[in-house]
Amino acid sequence: MFKTIGLAFRKIFGGHNQTDSENIDSNEDTVITASKRIIHEEEHQIPRRYLDDNAIKVAYRLTDAGYEGYLVGGCIRDLLLKKKPKDFDVATNAHPEEAADLFRRARLIGRRFKLVHVRFGREIIEVATFRASHDSQPENESGEQGKQCDSGMILRDNVYGTIEDDALRRDFTVNALYYCPNDHCVYDFANGYEDLKKGTLRMIGDPEARYKEDPVRMLRAARFAAKLDFTIEPATEAPIRDLAPMLKRIAPARLFDETLKLFQSGHAINSFEQLSRLDLFEPLFPQVQKLLDSDAPVPLEKIIQNALKNTDRRLAQRKSVTPAFLFAAILWYPAQLRMQQLMRENKMPPLPALHEAANQIIGEQVKSTAIPRRFSTPIREIWEMQLRLPRRNGNKAMRLLEQPRFRASYDLLLLREQSGEELGGLSQWWTDFQNADHKAREQMVQSQGGSQKRRRNKPKKVKPTSES
Ligand code: ATP
Ligand code: MG
Repeated sequence: MFKTIGLAFRKIFGGHNQTDSENIDSNEDTVITASKRIIHEEEHQIPRRYLDDNAIKVAYRLTDAGYEGYLVGGCIRDLLLKKKPKDFDVATNAHPEEAADLFRRARLIGRRFKLVHVRFGREIIEVATFRASHDSQPENESGEQGKQCDSGMILRDNVYGTIEDDALRRDFTVNALYYCPNDHCVYDFANGYEDLKKGTLRMIGDPEARYKEDPVRMLRAARFAAKLDFTIEPATEAPIRDLAPMLKRIAPARLFDETLKLFQSGHAINSFEQLSRLDLFEPLFPQVQKLLDSDAPVPLEKIIQNALKNTDRRLAQRKSVTPAFLFAAILWYPAQLRMQQLMRENKMPPLPALHEAANQIIGEQVKSTAIPRRFSTPIREIWEMQLRLPRRNGNKAMRLLEQPRFRASYDLLLLREQSGEELGGLSQWWTDFQNADHKAREQMVQSQGGSQKRRRNKPKKVKPTSES
């Protein structure tokens, strides 16, 4: 693959090495053959006021110090698509230590991929040094700056290069566009501008080798196709289904982050469709996929879809979302079925069975995507509340309403019923109960078989002691 990119690069910049031509033939469709293209402001029409002031400041500081500095990646892609960028990244030929020296509030981060974070209040601008492909590192440095394992996966990526090298080691052509704050032009080394206009997501270089270098790029393909409503170019899509299992080698913490980007950025339902279509949901949620493939009588696909649509709707309304709720919904049926199995086979009462099921299901899930404890604890609480929500007599309903997890638990109950689980109108009861005044609530509770008063009059355990 590196040869392919190297060759593509030589093709672009007119190098002389034509001896490996047979290597390109097999990849004719995927090799980027465009030459460097400069897109002037009149054409790209990115309004200067949409460029992040702090990112521009960082780029200017770099150029003032004699380095190159460009705004690059998703921010330029999104501005060209008239979308609001999530964040702004800067690329430079200054090495991380050199870049860090230029800023008072700079921090060097990362080992596998060294970066500089420059802080401006709450905003962080990420400054990355131009990377090159690993076959370009000098022999004597082999393994020091860049490292790949036998499967081709990149373990360390600190081989530095030129802007052209940097463009070609990025993932998709539309992510390899550079904005120069000095001439206000967009520099395109991989034909990304044309792909962007056509709505095509195309991997730079040989897709199979690029996925092997970093399997997370497959998830990124699904995510960008969903987010940008782009078509994944056939050669870029072709290897994904076969290589999907490679995601099992990625650190669960990284997969958790990617899952949140897929499901909590406002395009969750499209992302789920892309993931399912490309067999990429399985490596993220293996036990959920197994249940989806079975004939278990639970509306699992429906609840996932409803949870994701719900998340998209909330984000569109600028409401908060939490991974705890999302994971609680996605994993609810695996947990519920496990609980029922434990009750049936091990004769466990419901609550201990649910606790044990939660341990097992969460324990299994964290082998794929991590779930930090600040989320796994609320997941358990939301599930436990599902057992308590049907019991509304006495003052139980009022007490449940005051629980910190009530709202999320009620939302899961709603989703369960909306998705087709038969709960006898329980979520409607809770909707009415929340909307009712004090008197109406009393009546609703009484019709459940007991008021707060009756319960207080029956202190079963106290009575015998006071008589003795
Ligand atoms: P967004 O921020 O909207 O999620 P993005 O394209 O900016 O999308 P980032 O994760 O912020 O994505 O990465 C910034 C840029 O770094 C990308 O546009 C791409 O050029 C490059 N990049 C990120 N991850 C990879 C990767 N795994 N392989 C190759 N290039 C990558
Ligand atoms: Mg970004």
